[in-house]
Amino acid sequence: MDFRLAPEQQQFRDSVLKFSQKELSAGALARAHDPQYPWDVAKKMAKQGLLGITIPEADGGQGGTLMDAVLAIEAVASACPRSADVIQAGNFGPIRVLAEYGSSFQKQSFLKRLLTGEAVIAVGMTEPEAGSAVTDLATKATRDGKGWRINGSKIFTTHSAYADLILAYVRFGPGVGGIGSVLIEKNLPGFRLGRKSHFMSGEEWAELHFDNVLVPEEMVLLGEGGFKKQIAGFNVERIGNAARSLALGRYAFEQARAWALQRKQFGKLLAEFQGLQWKFADMKLKLEAAQLLLYRAAANADRGLPSPEETALAKMACNQAGFDVASESLQVMGATGYSQDTLVEYCLRRCRGWMIAGGSVEILKNRVAESIFDRTFPQRGG
Ligand SMILES: Cc1cc2nc3c(=O)[nH]c(=O)nc-3n(C[C@H](O)[C@H](O)[C@H](O)COP(=O)(O)OP(=O)(O)OC[C@H]3O[C@@H](n4cnc5c(N)ncnc54)[C@H](O)[C@@H]3O)c2cc1C
Repeated sequence: MDFRLAPEQQQFRDSVLKFSQKELSAGALARAHDPQYPWDVAKKMAKQGLLGITIPEADGGQGGTLMDAVLAIEAVASACPRSADVIQAGNFGPIRVLAEYGSSFQKQSFLKRLLTGEAVIAVGMTEPEAGSAVTDLATKATRDGKGWRINGSKIFTTHSAYADLILAYVRFGPGVGGIGSVLIEKNLPGFRLGRKSHFMSGEEWAELHFDNVLVPEEMVLLGEGGFKKQIAGFNVERIGNAARSLALGRYAFEQARAWALQRKQFGKLLAEFQGLQWKFADMKLKLEAAQLLLYRAAANADRGLPSPEETALAKMACNQAGFDVASESLQVMGATGYSQDTLVEYCLRRCRGWMIAGGSVEILKNRVAESIFDRTFPQRGG
């Protein structure tokens, strides 16, 4: 066992860091407060080979590993926290599910624009009555000639306001086995964006409505029985979520560290007060411990998709560490940290959301408990 990065991983991380400091640092504050997707960043990243890191070269990607993609998130976020979302969108999210399970027609039709940073794909799972209980989803696919009619609604979908392709989880039949997914282009008749809203992070989302949308057979990504495979693909998304939580916690930590070395009160640097030194020691412990779990899940996943249990542990640890460290960093910086002149308050708001998105901390604990006791614990019923 070796806890150090391999020389080529170190080299890759250094090159992404150099790119990020040169191209992304300058606009970081403004980007964090802009609800729009940073398309300019996406195009720069595409040129730099940072979209499709884990996607095979045959499909237009870089043929790298999940660990490489995690390193890219860390390096990018250290210069511009908001830009780490572009690494997520181009590597970990539904793009990865499309690359893993899509037909060659689907990949040829959509991957190119996603990998050049001209478009993003959104994943619509959550519905008004199906949040944590995602298998309660009701959006229905009904056979119509050679295609499927889709009826239903999705909420809280990241990128929904501007993505032109949706990977929508739908119900072909009853039960968990009846769930699959289709690719829906937003220009299809019957597709409608509903009420728009914002998360606490400032990101926009909009309700998605499908009113008798006709989807041809070749746009079915995973048909009936595809739910398990989709969740296996979704574990990759969770790794990206975990990596961003940790990276934004670390960003806040570095800001607080620099602040403690320049701000004086009572005639002393903040760094000289033991009450604050212990906060830094506690923060460091949380960051380092979570990072080990994240790296384990990502490194082991290079031999396939990440293990559900290792992913759940990594996401729980990183979500909690990111949020706790961002909060303590803000405390160390006083009103400066609470102000929108720094990105520390932004990191706190973003980390808060990741404790809910992509499998909440509680749902992941349920998953881990099942491994511990080697049995399932049905959450339904009285
Ligand atoms: C920033 C952000 C981005 C998102 N992006 C997307 C997206 O791109 N696509 C998409 O489809 N959805 C997205 N979501 C929605 C997300 O998947 C849901 O918010 C999540 O599944 C939880 O559902 P809910 O909000 O309806 O909460 P609920 O399911 O109503 O849960 C409420 C609370 O109860 C807890 N809880 C529920 N059931 C249990 C249980 N059995 N045991 C213990 N605790 C439980 C939950 O953990 C939570 O704390 C996003 C959400 C956020 C915050």
